[in-house]
Amino acid sequence: MLRIYNTLSQQLEPFEPLEKGCVKMYVCGPTVYDYCHVGHARSYVCFDIIRRYLEFLGYRVTYVQNFTDVDDKIIARANETGVEPGKLAEKFISAFFEDMHRLKIKPATYYPRVTKHMADIISTIEKLIAGGYAYESNGSVYFSVKKAKEFGKLSKQDIENMRTLEINEDKREPWDFALWKKAKEGEIYWESPWGNGRPGWHIECSVMSVKYLGENFDIHGGGMDLIFPHHECEILQSEAYTGKQFVKYWIHNGFLTINKEKMSKSLGNFFTIREVLARYEPDVLRFFIAHAHYRSPIDFSDAALDEAKASLKRLRNCYANILDALGKGEFGTEILDVETYRQRFIDRMDEDLNTREAIAVLFEMVSTINEKLENLDMNSLASALHFFDEVSSILGIDFAKEGTADRFIDLLLELRAEARKRKDWETADRIRERLRGLGVEIEDTADGTKWKYV
Ligand code: AMP
Ligand code: ZN
Repeated sequence: MLRIYNTLSQQLEPFEPLEKGCVKMYVCGPTVYDYCHVGHARSYVCFDIIRRYLEFLGYRVTYVQNFTDVDDKIIARANETGVEPGKLAEKFISAFFEDMHRLKIKPATYYPRVTKHMADIISTIEKLIAGGYAYESNGSVYFSVKKAKEFGKLSKQDIENMRTLEINEDKREPWDFALWKKAKEGEIYWESPWGNGRPGWHIECSVMSVKYLGENFDIHGGGMDLIFPHHECEILQSEAYTGKQFVKYWIHNGFLTINKEKMSKSLGNFFTIREVLARYEPDVLRFFIAHAHYRSPIDFSDAALDEAKASLKRLRNCYANILDALGKGEFGTEILDVETYRQRFIDRMDEDLNTREAIAVLFEMVSTINEKLENLDMNSLASALHFFDEVSSILGIDFAKEGTADRFIDLLLELRAEARKRKDWETADRIRERLRGLGVEIEDTADGTKWKYV
């Protein structure tokens, strides 16, 4: 049975969704003022694997991921570049979809964005004011933190730590936070009962999650930096609004760091997803992320990606060897207990989605197969292939891929051999150079042309 670490209880808990057979999950999406970096990729790959595993277990998953398409950073970037905030957000939402598609992140069920939910946000704020949880002041609206039942339920932080987050003399108390921000001169705005303005950050996720998933739902996720204040404030608002427990399981991914420091736009220590995918195959980046437990930090470097690439290659070689053996049709009689490896893989995944240890089980099986390939019976090899395919659907990594690439490489080499026969050295050299650029080195020997990945 699946157990998940819940940030709320700070413990592993058995996973039992509110409604049998269905899981409703909400994952905080990006603020779209720039291309996503690989720190974002980590968050979305982790939650994609969690979603895929829940689907593997037979749950029907409703997955919601928002876009913060208006906020201070978007407005600042729009001013710098002279592009309208709406156009800027649109551009980076499109880029986000391209990146997620390349990374094989399964599409969400809904992708709500703030600018399309103004009426819902305004009516929620009105209800919070009517309930005495919020107040208007000088054209802005603030949430009255002390009116909420409990502070620090999720983050275990002291209310005093809210004091310095939003310094503003319109607030009645220093820890209150903005639900609606009055527009500054010349800034993009929406009309509201309190004048022209736009929503604060936290309220959007409370409103959009409740709208698409209901007043209480199973999983709310995001990176660990969102625990405080974002998710803490979401709980205050939502529970004040509905009077019910907001979310059953709070799940947070660890940081992707670079030289042990969190990768972030503001620190400038980032690589965009597209920069990295120009040099590495998407599956290598996914494998690098999956190779760590989702709550552990992972340090990003070319060396770490190269290592992931080499490990993935070992798995793919084994997959190709099994295919090859099945193709040849010559088998031994030794039985490999694939089901035990499979069960151990599932047990590791069931224990807080420990992809790291689950992948280690797969490697154990691979070592045994490599050692005994010729002796194994047909059914063992077929079961191993099936297990590989199940892992592939959970991790979103294609183990057969290199096999396909191999066939294209062979085709190019065939064309190159023909070019050489015609003494078309230019084409032959071009093929060699282009393949080298893709990490394939070729060598002309007396027995024909050989190639290898480098
Ligand atoms: P943002 O656009 O900064 O709000 O980030 C969107 C999501 O990506 C949030 O869930 C963040 O916690 C997550 N995220 C941002 N940077 C990193 C990082 N370096 N490592 C892991 N997750 C991150
Ligand atoms: Zn959020």
